[in-house]
Amino acid sequence: MEKLKDTFFRAYFTMNVPRIIVRTDASVYTVISINDSFSRLTGIAEAHASGQSLFDLLKLEKDGTNGQQQLLDSCLAYAIQNNEQTNIPEFETFIISNGLRIQRWWKLELLPVIEVNGSGAYAVISVTDVTEHLLIQKQLDLAKANEQSLQEELAATNEELAAANEELNATIENLRQSQENLQELNNELENKVSLRTADLLLAQAELTSQHILMETILNEVPAGICVLKGAEMNLELVNAKLLQLWKRKKNIIGKPLTEVMPELLDQEFPEILNEVYVTGSPFSKSEAYAELIIDGVKTPVYRDFSYTPIKDNQGNTHSIVALTIDVTGRALARIREQQLMEEQSAINEELSAANEELAATNEELHEAQENQDRLIAVLARSEARFRNLIIEAPVAICVLKGTDYVIDAVNDEGLKILNKQSDIIGKSLRAALSEQERRPLQELLKMVSRSGETYYGNEVRAQFESDGQPEDGYFNFIFKPVKTSQDSIEEVIIVATNVTDLVNARNEKESAEVKLGLAIEAARMGSWYINAATNALEYNPTLAVLFGYEGSEPMTYEQAISRVTDDYRQKLEWEIEQAITHGGVYDMTYTMRRFNDEKIIWLRSLGKIHQDNQGNYTIFSGVVMDITEQKQDEQRKNDFIGMVSHELKTPLTSLNGYAQILHSKAKKQEDSFAINVLSKVTDQVKRMTTLINGFLNISRLESGKIHLVLQEFYLDELVRENIEEAELLSTAHEIIFKPCAPVLVKADRDKIGSVISNMISNAIKYSPNGIKKIEIQCQTTASAAQISVKDFGMGIAAADIPKLFDRFYRVESNQMHLISGFGIGLYLCSEIINHHHGKIWVESEPDQGSTFHFSLPLN
Ligand code: ADP
Repeated sequence: MEKLKDTFFRAYFTMNVPRIIVRTDASVYTVISINDSFSRLTGIAEAHASGQSLFDLLKLEKDGTNGQQQLLDSCLAYAIQNNEQTNIPEFETFIISNGLRIQRWWKLELLPVIEVNGSGAYAVISVTDVTEHLLIQKQLDLAKANEQSLQEELAATNEELAAANEELNATIENLRQSQENLQELNNELENKVSLRTADLLLAQAELTSQHILMETILNEVPAGICVLKGAEMNLELVNAKLLQLWKRKKNIIGKPLTEVMPELLDQEFPEILNEVYVTGSPFSKSEAYAELIIDGVKTPVYRDFSYTPIKDNQGNTHSIVALTIDVTGRALARIREQQLMEEQSAINEELSAANEELAATNEELHEAQENQDRLIAVLARSEARFRNLIIEAPVAICVLKGTDYVIDAVNDEGLKILNKQSDIIGKSLRAALSEQERRPLQELLKMVSRSGETYYGNEVRAQFESDGQPEDGYFNFIFKPVKTSQDSIEEVIIVATNVTDLVNARNEKESAEVKLGLAIEAARMGSWYINAATNALEYNPTLAVLFGYEGSEPMTYEQAISRVTDDYRQKLEWEIEQAITHGGVYDMTYTMRRFNDEKIIWLRSLGKIHQDNQGNYTIFSGVVMDITEQKQDEQRKNDFIGMVSHELKTPLTSLNGYAQILHSKAKKQEDSFAINVLSKVTDQVKRMTTLINGFLNISRLESGKIHLVLQEFYLDELVRENIEEAELLSTAHEIIFKPCAPVLVKADRDKIGSVISNMISNAIKYSPNGIKKIEIQCQTTASAAQISVKDFGMGIAAADIPKLFDRFYRVESNQMHLISGFGIGLYLCSEIINHHHGKIWVESEPDQGSTFHFSLPLN
């Protein structure tokens, strides 16, 4: 019943069209309601109609002979089954008026109505009374049929007349041909003419009676009919109904239509009439709109009308029959209905458009929701990553949210600096930190919140607690405000790095650099550095003073090198090159000619090459010291040692000579005491000679006066000689020689001999206790001959080994105090071997013994 309550449905139902609503209970069709219009049409009251079967309401007999009940039943069933409006164009029925049963014909429109929720079905039956229209149509059809037969008869008569004429002509022709038959034929013709005339009169009389009959019919039919004659459209005939419709009197007959109704002049009708008149084609139209002046008032009317041309024998139109039915009531009702339908459809369309919009909005909402869900998931992932990042970051991070600065996240580093536990997370800064702890943060937080700008703090000094102790430190930090889309500050991220170690290290480095600079200046050292890629030289003022450089332009590397004396320049360049390509330290002493006074000075230059991040050698820096004075002192000392040694050697040689003479004299006299004492004197003189030779050699070496006297000799033989000599001096030690195949070398025999002798005497000297055994081995390879002297004595600590071959170096230990020496033996050995381009080295372990090796190249 929902639909029946619908406003639009109610409006539709109550319109001025007779309507019945029935329930679709098949074969009964219980009447739910009839509208006022139906009540007026049938005289049945609404109260009486409701609840009745439709068939009873319409007083249809179940198996009536006209089968109307079956027709209605099946049409209703069809409409409901197919949910389709079904029409019955001419439904024969009757109404009771003043007790009389009046037959009517209705046009029935059966409209099925189905409830949206499927709760029921109804049918609306709209009734249009077409009785009048049907009757007029029937009478018109009858009139038309009569007119048709009259016309046909008239046409037949005309045809006959034409035939007679033809015959007459033939007869005249015959008359011309036959004079004799003329009279006879003339008579015959006259007879025929008179007969025909009589027929014609009869036909005319019949026509007149037909005309009267027609006029009667015309005046009786409920449709307006008029005949318009000629192009002027003179009203030749106007029936009573039309006069009534026009509200005009009969006196209009004979007048042109537009004179009688001048209001038609600016409407379509005169033109249509003219068209029908000219073309001879009939014209009809339903529900044509016209404005007529009725009783002096402009009245809108709707008419069904037809214009039928009446033609003469030649087919020319001489008149037009105009048939008019007033359908104003029906048309207005239909127009109203149409308007309502249109309004309803417009509303429906609007509703459907609104529905579509709603659906579209719904879809958009759905899509937006999906997008939002996706964004939320992305945000959640990003947030989780961000939190991990914070937790694992090696720097202190703290995220403060909102205006109360609630601690949203803080990592272990942050907690360490704040000296707090993780329970501060979720608390406001005010709740988490004391007033004193908060103070340094608060100012900055206020500032960045106000400005919205990130604040960077660099190496800011701050106090924090470390292991419960207050400690001063330096921090680099960032206060970064994060804005919301509304431009207000949503959170502040604080990132802090403890750079105390870095700052301290830098401060230390800076002060060390200052100290170093001062030391360099104080020591009158020149400092320099060379960019290895560009060879550009930079130096301090002291270096320029040392070099005597007074040029206005900075001194170049090439200029500096060019001042090195010829005997050192090549070596110095080679050393620098080696240091640059292989890295490491270089230390060289050389002479150079000063820029300003051409004076030769001694310099010691120490340098170190530094690597960059990629491992390339880039900066080469070092210091230069003027050691001229030191060198001169050394020279003086060497000269002195040389001179003293030389002077000592002369009396010693004499002493040795005298001792020898005394020794041979004692031998002759067989004075055993003197022999013994004199041989000891000879030994001591020999030892002293060795010592003095050592000093002499040193002085020669230092002043570059050492000269090798090269000769070929068997090295193994030389070893043997030195063993024999040593055995003479010390009987306490057992010297074991492990010889090799005889090996011929080219070297300074005396100097190599002094090397072997020094190694053996040291082996004896430094193994005073324990195993008194010395092993001497000779080995050869394709390129070198090698001698090794092994003892099982006190050995040497690893720390002393690198310095062992330095001039005057002696190991310091308690045992050493008992063993005399000057620390020059190994220095001389290494110098001699180096001059032979050989190698000298030692392997030793404390308390286990030592093995000294040297090798000489064979070619
Ligand atoms: P000197 O023996 O006169 O001290 P050397 O130049 O010959 O000078 O030796 C230098 C130092 O090397 C010695 O003082 C000693 O400490 C150490 N040394 C040399 N040879 C041996 C050795 N075979 N065993 C232990 N130490 C030795």
